[in-house]
Amino acid sequence: MEAYLGDGFMTSSGPYDGMTNEEGVEAISDDVEKHGWGKRAVSYRIRDWLISRQRYWGTPIPMIYCESCGVLPVREEDLPVLLPSDAEFKPTGESPLVASADFVNTTCHGCGGPAKRETDTMDTFMDSSWYMMRYLSPHFSDGPVDPEVAKAWLPVDQYTGGAEHAVMHLLYSRFFIKALYDMGMVDFEEPFLRLFNQGVILGQDHEKMSKSRGNVVNPDDVVGVMGADAVRCFLMFIGPWDHGGPWSGEGINGIARWLNRVWDIATRDAAALDGSGGSASRETRRMLHQTVRKCYGDLDRFKFNTAIASMMVWSDQSVEPELWSECVEKLLLMLAPMAPHMTEELWERSGRGYSIHQQDFPGWDDDLAADEVFTLVVQVNGKVRDKLEVPVWHS
Ligand SMILES: [Zn+2]
Repeated sequence: MEAYLGDGFMTSSGPYDGMTNEEGVEAISDDVEKHGWGKRAVSYRIRDWLISRQRYWGTPIPMIYCESCGVLPVREEDLPVLLPSDAEFKPTGESPLVASADFVNTTCHGCGGPAKRETDTMDTFMDSSWYMMRYLSPHFSDGPVDPEVAKAWLPVDQYTGGAEHAVMHLLYSRFFIKALYDMGMVDFEEPFLRLFNQGVILGQDHEKMSKSRGNVVNPDDVVGVMGADAVRCFLMFIGPWDHGGPWSGEGINGIARWLNRVWDIATRDAAALDGSGGSASRETRRMLHQTVRKCYGDLDRFKFNTAIASMMVWSDQSVEPELWSECVEKLLLMLAPMAPHMTEELWERSGRGYSIHQQDFPGWDDDLAADEVFTLVVQVNGKVRDKLEVPVWHS
């Protein structure tokens, strides 16, 4: 016989007989509270978290088993318990640590007799929940994180990752930080202030990449042929960062051609350029300052595709020789976060100091970036009806 789990009427339930199950829940809860046996609570579906795993790669659970003293936590001065280097990886269903005699056998600090270590390791979510804190001061030995450094850097301003982290990793991390807050170890309650999920890169056939479909592109292979900068820029250019999009062999060729063009531009001898005179410099400067402003804003909003598009337009501009050096320098600085290797090389070749990645992002001047406008007076039958600010069209 199985329990009936659907809706219906209470039966064989004493005083609750005849009630609907919903009425029964309320009546039973009332009685439980009336007798002081318990009280109503919302559970938020929280479950116990079993943190032990039968794996090598995880933090050892610092417990020992002694026949006389029972289960004891490893003393603080004996931490950390380190993983052994002689583990054997065999499909036994047990932790590989079980087979490491050096690891398993230890001495009980309670009675001095022989004891055995716990061989399960912790779920790696135990580490990923607070790793961003330890990264700040990895050599700090008086606690998990240097409080002064933590004060300066935490909480994390911007978290990026796949949407698949939302239900596990981010939840665990929030739980950890809230617990650390309650323990007085951090002065903030949320670990991440802003979250941005990147999209998924699909196969050329616009389907999710999978071995069975045969549409998997291995980025390492493409990096080997086209270089990491081309792959990075292509992934950023493929579409809005949070949308992702289909891989395209043609698309990456286009990006590679553009990067080659930037290389060509940046290695030209400015002194040997033909000049068209200084008359267009104002317009060139305007374009430059507009492009820098647009790029900065786009990067800030994770709009890498439009940032690259505006750099492409900019790299097609004809530039007067006297502005050449400044224009090339700013193009490299804007491109540096996207094509870090190539821009570093070009930076060095142009005789500038190491490193392009230690330079500030270029600034801009809103006045110089402002569109040139004139006032268009609209008259109808000799009467002024409106005045419009209209950009000057440069053909
Ligand atoms: Zn003992």
